[in-house]
Amino acid sequence: MNNFDPPKQAGDYDVNAYCPVCNSRSNFLYKANDGREYGYHNTPAQELKSNRDFGGEIVFRLLGCATCGVAGLAEFHNRVLYRFDPHAQVTINLPDDTPDDIKREFRSAENCSGIEEYRPGATMLRSTIEKVLIKHGYNENDLFQKLDQLAEDKIITRTLAKQNQEIVRILGNDVLHGIWREVFPDEFATAYKYTHRLIEAFYDDHKSVLAELQEIGKEIPDEESQEPESS
Ligand SMILES: [Zn+2]
Repeated sequence: MNNFDPPKQAGDYDVNAYCPVCNSRSNFLYKANDGREYGYHNTPAQELKSNRDFGGEIVFRLLGCATCGVAGLAEFHNRVLYRFDPHAQVTINLPDDTPDDIKREFRSAENCSGIEEYRPGATMLRSTIEKVLIKHGYNENDLFQKLDQLAEDKIITRTLAKQNQEIVRILGNDVLHGIWREVFPDEFATAYKYTHRLIEAFYDDHKSVLAELQEIGKEIPDEESQEPESS
């Protein structure tokens, strides 16, 4: 199970979901350690002042993360999970030298994935790639060509360039400019992984990357010489 999977029912009223405090997948339980239930409210759907009557029973339940105890709220329809909060997202460590704007763009993509909005999430990943490249002087051609040039200049591997070109092609250009289509969680997960690798390739050892770029005579925009802002 990857962290982009939506919340899933795991037992009577337990839910397996991403926990924002544990920063990992966790089980949210409807009973506390002492065996008592956190609490619930059940009502026939027809009694709700809304058009949600499906001829069954709705139960709202409080749950607690099995690991850290943070609260969750689940809604069950006829004992089947209908929705769960918090809508939480994966966050993954970024190298210390990653500039603030890159971090924010990448975190926006994560936030979108937390509410299962993979289309805007994908465009944020594309924008992250673009910002990384522009910051290193690769701004003269389109993204696809820039990635080719980076591999040719041996700043990143040919494999990483290809992986990122796939993201740009499918989740950037097609999603933004083509006919509307859904972006699926597994597509987002792959794009997310490769965008993260690109950030690592540039910022894990940023000084060495800058030195290599200098060696091939690449002009780096001024901001690269500044200390990255803290997030
Ligand atoms: Zn937790």
